[in-house]
Amino acid sequence: MECIFCRIAARKHPAKIIYEDDISIAFEDINPQAPVHTLIVPKKHISTNLDLKEEDNILIGHLFQVANKIAKDKGIAEKGFRLIINCNPGSGQTVFHIHLHVIGGRRMHWPPG
Ligand code: AMP
Ligand code: ZN
Repeated sequence: MECIFCRIAARKHPAKIIYEDDISIAFEDINPQAPVHTLIVPKKHISTNLDLKEEDNILIGHLFQVANKIAKDKGIAEKGFRLIINCNPGSGQTVFHIHLHVIGGRRMHWPPG
């Protein structure tokens, strides 16, 4: 098993896991870009957003529900937070297992870098 996020989901690689259910796992980003920077990862290996199939619609919706829960739990929901999915290297994607970034706890800028 090569994929680092599959390894984290299988508990074969350490991570600060803050949430888990049958479909997804959430853990703290190792290189946080803000006071809150959590990654939500489906347990199913999907490389990029472009690889999503119709059958993954419920899975993707679920990640967004988990994001809301984490934002509320971490107290950033009301002030505001950002959800990001990078797709392919030009966007900055470095881990090719789809993941939703939950970023907040500081003022976010627009446009993003
Ligand atoms: P992306 O650039 O969208 O592919 O995001 C990958 C994210 O994964 C980056 O923010 C990294 O800091 C983070 N990351 C990479 N390896 C690990 C790891 N072992 N544990 C936690 N976060 C990681
Ligand atoms: Zn994977």
